[in-house]
Amino acid sequence: MASHPTRPFLRHVLAASTMNTTVLAAAAVAGVGAYALYLRRSSSGDSSGAAKASSSTQNGTFSRFGFKSLRLHSSEQVNHDTKRLRFALPDPDATSGLSLTSAVLTLSFPNGGWIPCLRPYTPVNELDEKGFLELMVKHYPGGKQSTHLHSLKPGDTLTFAPLKGYAWTPNQHRHVALVAGGAGITPMYQLMRGILRDPADHTRITLVWGVNTDDDLFLRDELADLQRRFPGRLRTVYTVSRPVDGSPHRRGYVTRELLESAGLGAGKGEDGDADSVTKVLVCGPPPMEKALTGASGWGGKAAGGVLAELGYTKDQIHRF
Ligand SMILES: Cc1cc2nc3c(=O)[nH]c(=O)nc-3n(C[C@H](O)[C@H](O)[C@H](O)COP(=O)(O)OP(=O)(O)OC[C@H]3O[C@@H](n4cnc5c(N)ncnc54)[C@H](O)[C@@H]3O)c2cc1C
Repeated sequence: MASHPTRPFLRHVLAASTMNTTVLAAAAVAGVGAYALYLRRSSSGDSSGAAKASSSTQNGTFSRFGFKSLRLHSSEQVNHDTKRLRFALPDPDATSGLSLTSAVLTLSFPNGGWIPCLRPYTPVNELDEKGFLELMVKHYPGGKQSTHLHSLKPGDTLTFAPLKGYAWTPNQHRHVALVAGGAGITPMYQLMRGILRDPADHTRITLVWGVNTDDDLFLRDELADLQRRFPGRLRTVYTVSRPVDGSPHRRGYVTRELLESAGLGAGKGEDGDADSVTKVLVCGPPPMEKALTGASGWGGKAAGGVLAELGYTKDQIHRF
């Protein structure tokens, strides 16, 4: 999840850079300088950026690519290292305008420096909620962006841009496996709610979530609620590498054995088999993603790893 934190953003930039002239290069240098100055100002915590953003909310705040500054409405500690950060959208009647599995790219200039820090986060509130964008952010000691986000106080502002995620098509697969590590649960949570809330989408879901401690299962209640509301549609398997005594959860990492015991060993499942998993989506810390999908590559392409050993092909695997 974090090995190429700006990977989708770079894809946007690379895709856009098809022209090659010196005039463009000179203009780009001047433009980048001016844009960096603008972004640095708008991410500095004053209110001007947030106010300016209000004109572009007609179809959702992030319907089009571009950076916008949002004000932090509230910050709540949900466990030992994770905060729920609720940002107010400039127009209280607008939605975020993000589509299913989209993330937001956050931008800051740590310690007042000139080198921008860009990291993606996946909103956890309903995409059709008006007026707010909500993130769950896990703090990594020494982590540039997570330290900055945890330091924000209500009233401070942060700069965001939209990032497209995996293009989900309802009923394209009968059964999907979502394999998450730690805070990598957030894209999975957004996707599973989107699937389950769509009455026309009948996809069944198996979630495998690996964490370090029982406390790290910070969306456990919300997931239990989804299981109650959509019986038979969502199966959850949690594994904890350092569980407390008496923990109800399995001890260990997300391994080949765990995936097999969770019924995800049949990567080559036939189309006619209602139980076959035809797509696996993965989001987690770099070592976990590497173990599951093998050597990393641009564009989230997988190569080797536990999932390949189980028979999943590259096309069946998506890394966020
Ligand atoms: C599509 C996508 C969505 C994401 N959504 C969320 C989200 O909703 N909430 C959230 O908290 N994070 C999310 N992340 C991860 C987030 O983008 C950052 O990678 C994370 O917050 C660490 O950034 P940092 O600048 O604080 O750490 P960095 O300065 O980049 O790294 C500092 C150290 O922290 C450790 N570290 C960094 N990232 C991870 C990681 N993912 N797992 C384990 N150790 C790590 C490493 O030891 C690293 O050396 C998402 C990532 C992706 C790709």
